[in-house]
Amino acid sequence: MTGLLLWALVRWAVEAVARVEAVRRESEERHRQVFERTNSVCVLVDIDTLQIVDANPAAVQFYGWTRPELLGMRLPQINTMEETALHAAVKAAADAGGKSFVVRHRLRSGAERDVEVHSTPIHLAGRRVNFSIVHDITERLGAERRLAESEANYRRALEQASDAIVVGDREGMVLEANSRAEELFGRARAEIIGHRMEELVSPADRERFPLNLRELFEGGAVLHERRLARKDGVVVEVEISARELGDGRYQAIIRDISERRRLEEQLRQAQKMEAVGQLTGGIAHDLNNLLTVVLANSEMMAGALPPGRQDLDDDLRELQAAARRGAQMIRKLLSFSRRAPLTFQVLDLGRVVGDVLDTLRRLLPAHIEIKLQRDGNPVKALADAGAIEQVVINLATNARDAMPNGGLLQLDVSKVDVAQPPAGVPPGRYARLTVRDTGLGMDERVKARAFEPFFTTKPPGEGSGLGMSMVYGLTQQHGGFVELESTLGRGTMVRVFLPLAGEDHPLPQGTPAPGSLRGGRETILLVEDEDGLRRVAQRALERVGYRVLTAADGLEALELYRRGAAEVDLVITDVVMPRLGGIALYRTLRQEGHNPRILFTSGYSAAELTDGDFPEAELVVLQKPWTLADLTQRVRNVLDRG
Ligand code: ADP
Ligand code: MG
Repeated sequence: MTGLLLWALVRWAVEAVARVEAVRRESEERHRQVFERTNSVCVLVDIDTLQIVDANPAAVQFYGWTRPELLGMRLPQINTMEETALHAAVKAAADAGGKSFVVRHRLRSGAERDVEVHSTPIHLAGRRVNFSIVHDITERLGAERRLAESEANYRRALEQASDAIVVGDREGMVLEANSRAEELFGRARAEIIGHRMEELVSPADRERFPLNLRELFEGGAVLHERRLARKDGVVVEVEISARELGDGRYQAIIRDISERRRLEEQLRQAQKMEAVGQLTGGIAHDLNNLLTVVLANSEMMAGALPPGRQDLDDDLRELQAAARRGAQMIRKLLSFSRRAPLTFQVLDLGRVVGDVLDTLRRLLPAHIEIKLQRDGNPVKALADAGAIEQVVINLATNARDAMPNGGLLQLDVSKVDVAQPPAGVPPGRYARLTVRDTGLGMDERVKARAFEPFFTTKPPGEGSGLGMSMVYGLTQQHGGFVELESTLGRGTMVRVFLPLAGEDHPLPQGTPAPGSLRGGRETILLVEDEDGLRRVAQRALERVGYRVLTAADGLEALELYRRGAAEVDLVITDVVMPRLGGIALYRTLRQEGHNPRILFTSGYSAAELTDGDFPEAELVVLQKPWTLADLTQRVRNVLDRG
């Protein structure tokens, strides 16, 4: 019985063990099936040797090696980590009872993948192994990296944009701003972000054109022009183009258009000046002819007066004085319309201004102090000395009028670099004359119109409104430009910039002596379309002994000359005439083989009369209005030149 019982017990035990073994085998079989069938990449790695103990089909597919190949490999052949570090990591995972890593795994193809590995230690047939599940996260990491990159690119673009960019929310609160926005608003980013957009608009504009956010959101892209109030009070004109970003935020690109506005304004001003210049130029030309008639006739009358008629002589002098004043006004007009006859020379601007100082002291009352500051070295400019004098005198006169209670007139001559000249003038080094007063100054309206001819704020009889326009015209004619700064109640500063002459230009010494005043016996062909002028010139020339033939235009002159060419010693011709002008007349005569001595008369300057292929040197011009002395002297000069 005991034996039977024992047998039964042993058998039960054996069966129990067999059952356990069967269960174990069954569970092992289930695990193996999961291991074999799962899509997850699974590998078993010996913790001590790093030998790959097993790998599932998903692993075979992922890595590209066959199972036997994989089983002959060690983990360092797959993991890109340095071996000691790798070993430590594997151990750490085992000790912690499981751990995740993000590492890189090598494939058979040589490619590397970013993987996330979760490792758990298990016992397998007496060996300590890590069971690792491997996830390929290359795509996810790439996407994350690309996102970060595009974010960085966006930031970079935002920062590098030449326009200010702000991003705001529906309520108009600024959420982001780039560094150009800081510059434009004159505020630090902290003073922009978190503030309302409206606070950045100038108070005046805020009321007139409230920022319409609804329009912004409903209309998509909008373009606005606004004035922004910088923190320092400077108002900047900007163009805002705003766009909804689609997520309730909007982005505004803000462009500084102050410079564009300034150039537009400059252009408008220049065009206006050009138009007025042409108009006045034309009028001045006609007036010149008339005044020449008046002057010359009165001079002749004075010369022909019987003795004892002092009264008539006085009258004539009055007449002449008035005509001369008229002529002076016309000179101003012509200089505004850039038609002043100028002779450019290399001169020391400081010296020319210094020379005018005496005149200024006489011109200005004692309670106005005059100071001149000059560069130690000559400031060589290519300029007309007379024109510079006119400029200084005009500016000083204006300063005087602006300082009825006295003050300081400061003149300063120096060389400067001009990086941003007005349109049409090249950047570079310029000679600069600054005239500054401590007078009444001008308001914006006056400042805007100061250079206009006939614009004056002075009572009739006191101001002609031609001073500033003359300064403007003369400077332009020099290839320079003028800047005007003025503050009401503080004073005015006018800066005149003239082209510098090269350092190696010699300064001329002295001026040639005036020629003598004589007549002669030669024959002169006088060509002039203005009857009065032609008559008085003829009589004046005849009176000093010349024989004078006259023609009313170039064609008539041509016929006369062809008939009596041998007799004519000198042709005096107006330049601008109907049918055939003076220069065309001269050309035709030259083409026909004649080579007459010629003297042109004109209200225009020589430079303006030539059309390029006519050598300026050959162009001897008698400027209108001329006096009898001018006329006879120039005639004699040309005849005597041989
Ligand atoms: P005018 O002196 O005959 O009035 P201008 O052409 O010289 O003519 O000047 C035009 C106007 O510009 C003046 O009437 C005056 O209002 C203003 N102006 C010119 N220079 C000054 C100055 N230095 N200070 C204040 N206002 C000036
Ligand atoms: Mg004036």
